[in-house]
Amino acid sequence: MSSLFLLLSLCLFSEFRVMEITGYCSCPICCESSADGITASGHIISPGDKFAAADRQWKFGTLVTVRDYNDSKPVIVLDRGGSIKGNRLDLYFDNHKAALEWGRSMKIVRIQE
Ligand SMILES: [Zn+2]
Repeated sequence: MSSLFLLLSLCLFSEFRVMEITGYCSCPICCESSADGITASGHIISPGDKFAAADRQWKFGTLVTVRDYNDSKPVIVLDRGGSIKGNRLDLYFDNHKAALEWGRSMKIVRIQE
């Protein structure tokens, strides 16, 4: 009974979308002039942080879950990006190599506002 309730809750309170997922870090290559270690929401980036940059339609604090990022656990939207518009999500990595290795792909994203 409780697992059925949980399943219903998951369906009711979250949305699933296929989005184009990319990776970035706080280096000048990824962020150009805004590579100051502070996200668009005012968050000061510290080592090991996991968060996402998304379009304005998802407000800061929205939870997004992408398989294989942050052990497939939810992270929050804390940043924006000039090219991150519409159906795109940019995931933060500690270093440029890791961001490049993540690459670019279409993945299912679970969104909870
Ligand atoms: Zn970078």
